[in-house]
Amino acid sequence: MQPIQPNTPPETAQDAPRLIKTCSIWRALNDIGDVPTLLILETIWLGERQFKSIQTRTKLPKSVVSDRLKKLIAADIVFKEPYSQKPLRYEYRFTPKGLDLEWVAMMLLRFEKKWSTKTTKFDVQLVHTACGSPTNPEPICGHCKQIIKSKDLEWKEGPGVGLMEASYIRRRQNRSRDNLSELDLLYTDSVEILGDRWASLILRSVFTNIRRYDDILNDTAIATNILSERLNWLVENNVLTEVLYQTRPDRFEYWLTHKGYDYYTVLLMLMRWGDKYYGSTEGPPVLLHHKICGNELDPIVGCSHCKEPLISSELKQSRTDTK
Ligand SMILES: [Zn+2]
Ligand SMILES: [Zn+2]
Repeated sequence: MQPIQPNTPPETAQDAPRLIKTCSIWRALNDIGDVPTLLILETIWLGERQFKSIQTRTKLPKSVVSDRLKKLIAADIVFKEPYSQKPLRYEYRFTPKGLDLEWVAMMLLRFEKKWSTKTTKFDVQLVHTACGSPTNPEPICGHCKQIIKSKDLEWKEGPGVGLMEASYIRRRQNRSRDNLSELDLLYTDSVEILGDRWASLILRSVFTNIRRYDDILNDTAIATNILSERLNWLVENNVLTEVLYQTRPDRFEYWLTHKGYDYYTVLLMLMRWGDKYYGSTEGPPVLLHHKICGNELDPIVGCSHCKEPLISSELKQSRTDTK
């Protein structure tokens, strides 16, 4: 197979407006919203610690692994620790901030188990040692312990909302669809969405009920050519569906499919993580209200058996090969 080549030519966006709403999701994606980065994080999460094994597992070029590990260290998500002095060799481990990504990882796993169209070479089962049961991580409201459903949420602007320059790196990110499915990894479909910052930004808009092309354009400041291409890609991949709202000329709104609705749990946990590590001093840019219990949403990932929050030290992973 061809190695994944993330270095692609720059993209121009002169016609795009330059200010978009601040958002913890976007800031978080600046550090992790990239396919090679997510593959490396997943590999470390699955227990690989050494450069060679990370590279073998992700099949990324050495230079890419090295570059992304450096960035993850700079972002305080991963740190390196020597495990051998002669020759000097390092292991890569999660910092507390990196460990905190585990709820994002668990929601990716949940999404993948439900929606992946590909057969992976193995499956991971989790046991919650605190209650002794096999567990499926569930998105749960920290107040009422009900499973969070998108239709039970109301989004509103929080104290930290403001405008920021859309100074994102204007590059096309390739999604390497065929390549990913050959990897000995779990997340393929979800990594393609989360690893595409444009797609995640579009989904942020749609989750907050912004559904029309011009409104999404205004909300995201994505260059029109990229926006159209990403919308089509999300429709082709059954994350969004087009709904006609006007004829002559035909105009469509973009609505979430069931699969798209399920993806919001990934963004919810990413938002939580982003609020914690990249939040504005004034507070979160977005507030979520849980209509079921009337509280501000405190999204947690809980055990499907006992509903208690899942923490890494109380989880046991076991891997089964499926082919
Ligand atoms: Zn609640
Ligand atoms: Zn439990």
